[in-house]
Amino acid sequence: MMDAIHGIVESPDALRFVHRNLLDATDFAGYLRQRPPYVSLERSLLGEGDSLSIDDSTVAAADAARLVRRLGHDVTIFLNGWNIVEGTPYCFSGFNAVLDETRVNQVTSEGTLHDLRTARGKQSFRRSVKLQWMAIASESDREELIAGIGRMLGIDSIVVPPHLSPLTPEQVRELIDIGVDVQNHGWIHVRMSAISADAQAENILLGREWLRSEYGVESSFVATPYGGDIPPWNTSPHYKAWFLLDSTLTIEQHPADVFSRATLELAS
Ligand SMILES: [Zn+2]
Repeated sequence: MMDAIHGIVESPDALRFVHRNLLDATDFAGYLRQRPPYVSLERSLLGEGDSLSIDDSTVAAADAARLVRRLGHDVTIFLNGWNIVEGTPYCFSGFNAVLDETRVNQVTSEGTLHDLRTARGKQSFRRSVKLQWMAIASESDREELIAGIGRMLGIDSIVVPPHLSPLTPEQVRELIDIGVDVQNHGWIHVRMSAISADAQAENILLGREWLRSEYGVESSFVATPYGGDIPPWNTSPHYKAWFLLDSTLTIEQHPADVFSRATLELAS
C-alpha cells in the first residue's frame, strides 16, 4: 500500500472547508502508534512495506511529517517550490477560506445557481470553480480568479488560516534534518494535462533544480498535482517514478514508471 495524506490539524470541523482533506492530529497519532512502521517510498516500490507520502507545501503537511517521524515511521513530503519561495498560499486554500467566511446566500456559476447556505450548495459551487481553476496554466491567473470570486462573495481580502500557510524555506530544511524525504510536486501546483508537454517538463525540472540548489536533494520522485494525470512521455531523465493519487486508471493503463497512491482514511 502507498498511503497519502494532505496534513493534520487539531480537531478538524467537517463543515469547514479550510479543514478539508486534513486528518485529526490525535486520531492520526493513535493510528501511527498501532500500525507497523511505514517504510520509505523507495522501499515500498521494491515491495518492502507500506509507505506514506504527504502532498503540498503547507504547515498542516509539515506538522504531519514531523509527527510521523517522531513516532518512528519513514515519510515523504511532495513540495511545490514556488509557494515556499514566494511565500504564497495555494489558491484553493484561499478559496476554501472564502467558502467558510462568506455571508452571501447564493451564487451563479457557469449557469447554475448554488445555495451557499447549505454545505451541499457550497460543495457544488466548489466543484464548479475547481474545474475552472484546474484549466488555468498560470498561478497569477488562478489567483485572479479566486480573488474575483472572493469579492463577489463579499470577501475583499482573503485570509488563509495558519495551518494552510506555505512552509518557509527554513522549515523545509528542518524537515530534511529530521529525516523527512522531500520530493517534487512540480514547481507550481498546476494540473499537468492543462499545460503542454514542454511546460510539464519545465514544471518538473524547476521543482527538481530548486530542491537540488537550495537543499542538495537529488529528487527522484514526482507526484502529479491533483493526482490524476499520467506523463505525456515514455521515460524522463528527471525522475524515477511518477505518482498518482486516487486515480481511476487501472494498473494496465499505467506506464511502467507510474504508481498509484490512495488517500488514507482513518476509521472513525
Ligand atoms: Zn497537491
